[in-house]
Amino acid sequence: MRRRALFLLLLLLPCGALAQPTPYRQTAAVLAHYPPVADMHLDSPAFRTPEPSLTSQDAMADFLTALARNSAKAKVGSLGTSTHGRDIPVVYLTAEGLADSAAIRQLGRPVIWLIGQQHGNEPAGGEAMLALAAALARGELAPLLAKLTVVIVPRANVDGAANDKRVLASGADSNRDHLLLSQPEVRALHQAMHALPPDVVFDHHEFSVAWRWVEKFNGLQAADVMILEATNPSIPKALSAIARGLYRPALEAAIRREGLSSFDYVTTDPTPADKRVSLGGTAPGIARNTFGLRGAVSYLIETRGVGIGLQSYQRRVSTHFLLARAVLEVSAADPAGLLRRLAEARAAVAADRADLIVSHEEGEREVDLPLINAESGVLMATPVRLIDSRDIRPVDVRPRPAGYLVLRAGADVAERLGLNEVGVREVATGSAQDVEAYRVKWTGSRKRREAINPDQSVRVTIEKKTMDVPAGTLFVPMDQPAAGIAAAALEPDSPGSYVGVGVIPMASDEAEAPVYRLLDASGLVLKP
Ligand SMILES: [Zn+2]
Repeated sequence: MRRRALFLLLLLLPCGALAQPTPYRQTAAVLAHYPPVADMHLDSPAFRTPEPSLTSQDAMADFLTALARNSAKAKVGSLGTSTHGRDIPVVYLTAEGLADSAAIRQLGRPVIWLIGQQHGNEPAGGEAMLALAAALARGELAPLLAKLTVVIVPRANVDGAANDKRVLASGADSNRDHLLLSQPEVRALHQAMHALPPDVVFDHHEFSVAWRWVEKFNGLQAADVMILEATNPSIPKALSAIARGLYRPALEAAIRREGLSSFDYVTTDPTPADKRVSLGGTAPGIARNTFGLRGAVSYLIETRGVGIGLQSYQRRVSTHFLLARAVLEVSAADPAGLLRRLAEARAAVAADRADLIVSHEEGEREVDLPLINAESGVLMATPVRLIDSRDIRPVDVRPRPAGYLVLRAGADVAERLGLNEVGVREVATGSAQDVEAYRVKWTGSRKRREAINPDQSVRVTIEKKTMDVPAGTLFVPMDQPAAGIAAAALEPDSPGSYVGVGVIPMASDEAEAPVYRLLDASGLVLKP
């Protein structure tokens, strides 16, 4: 009977309509906390009608085409095509109206990348990116382009957005793939970023309002926006200092000015019995962390939006818009100073000889989570146990090598690392070298690969040996700004490693990884 009723219901839906999940209905008392932000002009497709609506792929394309036609500053390009054949647009905004990445690099201005809607069911960030592109192209923010280059990817996950789904068409979470680069959409983004490397990246998301928060803590998430910088043990300290000393205060000032509320970004595990919350995650493949490891200031911005349809939509989009504007304004205040500090941070990584933290645990502490009573709307600060991704407790620590020798899948590894700004070399002449080899033991926990704090797939013991390194071997030096990417990818027991996920394949009866640590590279003869 129920099956028949469902069938009839599907017949009654208008042709082409999507079966959207029913949004969580917030009470009037709750909604009263989240009125529209006053005096906002959001020039984007969703706000051209009295009631906002989701912007379709076609409406986004039409909007961007018109933007480029009516502005001398905006050039609209394409990152590529999604799994289901949709175009992934990118907007380059410069005072000169340049589209060519090499020409834009020549301008010598800070390059700010803003990414919307990596998760398709988090529309407010993507909509705000359209409004921001308009404000830069032909509106009140255009003067900022004398100081900055802005690159906007309004909708990184176009297939997910078309179906109101978090994940890519492949089912993968794009925001766990930035080290691995296995998904075409993520790879396309990194190809464009490789051509025009970011100095600052802001990644715009939305978080769940009800969901596990009601099950575990009997309340709704209250903060308008949750924010987190890159958190991984190898994020350069000087980059974190810029993030927390320059950008976070600018964001908080904008939040206070508009009467919004904020909190550090937290999430919680699906397991109902686990009542802890995590301050983001440390996985090197999360966009926020990958961009930090490759040498950019990197932030996650999340508004209160998943699961509530278009409730409070103007406020959510406005929040993303206002914070992105704050990012641009603080970057434009002293562009030369920003570039100098970034250059110093990157040079410090290249010169770093400190030990590598390959795996770690995180400290825990109590915090008051800002929740709100689902019926009465009363705010309730709720004490919870926080797994603190800023409080790193090293577990596997080893000396930083001069570099890594990769004896298998070298071309594939070189391509993936290169897209994340890791420079690689090739051995010109074969020679015997003293190396450290990894004896690998699989832990059998590969299923947690997409967790924010993934488990190690392998454990290793290290053995010194002398080996013949053939000509043509890939050598990945560590004296470079993106060294943290190289170590995360190539130490086999790092929880995102290329051995662990099979990019560097190993036979089931093999015990020694085809990756070697070279502590002294002075005897290697490399191709120029
Ligand atoms: Zn998201």
